[in-house]
Amino acid sequence: MPREKKVEHYDVVIIGGGAAGLTAGIYAGRARLKTLLIEKALVGGLATYTNEIENYPGFPNTPKGEEITNLMKEQAKKMGVTFKLTDVKSVDLLGDEKVVETFRNKYIAKSVILATGSKNRITNAENEEKFLFDKGISFCATCDAAANTDKTVVVIGSGDAAIEEGMFLTKFAKKVIVSVMHHEGKMDCNEIAKEAALKNPKMEFIWDTTVARFEGDDYLEKVVLKNIKTGEEIPVPCDNCFEFIGYIPNTDIIKDQVRLTGHGYIITNEKMESNIPGVFAAGDVRDKWLRQVSTAVGDGAIAGYAAEKYIAESEIFHEVIMQKEKPGLTFIYNAVDAGSREFLLEIEKIQNHFEGRVIVNRVDIYKSSGIADRLNVSAFPALVLTRQGKVIERIIGTIDSKKLNDKLDKICAECHEFNS
Ligand SMILES: Cc1cc2nc3c(=O)[nH]c(=O)nc-3n(C[C@H](O)[C@H](O)[C@H](O)COP(=O)(O)OP(=O)(O)OC[C@H]3O[C@@H](n4cnc5c(N)ncnc54)[C@H](O)[C@@H]3O)c2cc1C
Repeated sequence: MPREKKVEHYDVVIIGGGAAGLTAGIYAGRARLKTLLIEKALVGGLATYTNEIENYPGFPNTPKGEEITNLMKEQAKKMGVTFKLTDVKSVDLLGDEKVVETFRNKYIAKSVILATGSKNRITNAENEEKFLFDKGISFCATCDAAANTDKTVVVIGSGDAAIEEGMFLTKFAKKVIVSVMHHEGKMDCNEIAKEAALKNPKMEFIWDTTVARFEGDDYLEKVVLKNIKTGEEIPVPCDNCFEFIGYIPNTDIIKDQVRLTGHGYIITNEKMESNIPGVFAAGDVRDKWLRQVSTAVGDGAIAGYAAEKYIAESEIFHEVIMQKEKPGLTFIYNAVDAGSREFLLEIEKIQNHFEGRVIVNRVDIYKSSGIADRLNVSAFPALVLTRQGKVIERIIGTIDSKKLNDKLDKICAECHEFNS
């Protein structure tokens, strides 16, 4: 019989411990939320594999990625974030209570932040599976360069990662052969990297090619390239092959629940909100223009902050706005709008008149429209009448005080009858 999973409750569960997840943790932890961060591989994420980070603000001495992410981890721990090193197997994000399951545990959270980053894209050429990772096909020069000292390696790709990692490999390997799918001289990397690579005597380029297949017995011995113009096959004997042809977002566990782009990236707004209330996304897994440590950090900060606001709003919504004890009147206004501000005086009069009989709330949507959204109100000023925890009427726009007073009198009378 399967073992029953241990259940733990958190305010926020963050899935993924890269720069985005760690920063979200710092913000959520600092807001005194009970925060859990789950990482399946290496805390620090993709950046830990990067040998030199030149463009992360505040670190002018070109640190290794892990130097930066280790500091983030230390800071998140200081803010009280709990870390678990395990793989999230499934999630159920649609309800008010979000469920995140690992092999042994079930975590229930008020909010979930998805910061799962992306994984390496592979060529899907013949025999690739046979040589992946420790059999001759690698995705990390930092990890595997030293093992290729004085050897010949093939690099697939011509983007920034391919060329920068290829250059790094020339410090160890005797020859770095780069397969580029474009015609001679055209590469996907930035111009500075391109110039440096073309000048590097250890680098050799085979233009107009993709991988036809990988060959070898137990370990990779040869990459067979194919000229996409002529169809000619070019066997390239080598000791290792490094693939740098892009990334695929890690969205398998959420793909049936969260709205994604055609390429599988999570669609968010600028508050990092996904299509599901209480579910946020941050970092490389999100649909965005620039995937870097600095942008992952920005996303994480917003997601952590937004999760805190969402939880606070949820509590106000359930415990105050939708209370069941008495009839409720919620005034939704925008503090910067003179028209809706004027009506605040009327609301005060109504509150005094119905004191002890009607619970009156004011919700300013200037900073957040969360509660108005939950009440299905998209215009202001607006009034929402509730009874026994249910919305009974929405009044949008012009508010007639006399009619409102009459309406509340009627509701109070009905309640009185109902209770006696
Ligand atoms: C070779 C290379 C060089 C780069 N150089 C630079 C650079 O110089 N400057 C720069 O700013 N950026 C650079 N980047 C980009 C930068 O590393 C990323 O943009 C950044 O790390 C993204 O952070 P993230 O937190 O969004 O995702 P990641 O760092 O990818 O973190 C996501 C984490 O989620 C975990 N995860 C995924 N699924 C699950 C699951 N189901 N359960 C639990 N955990 C899960 C993963 O294991 C991973 O650790 C480089 C990237 C590469 C590959």
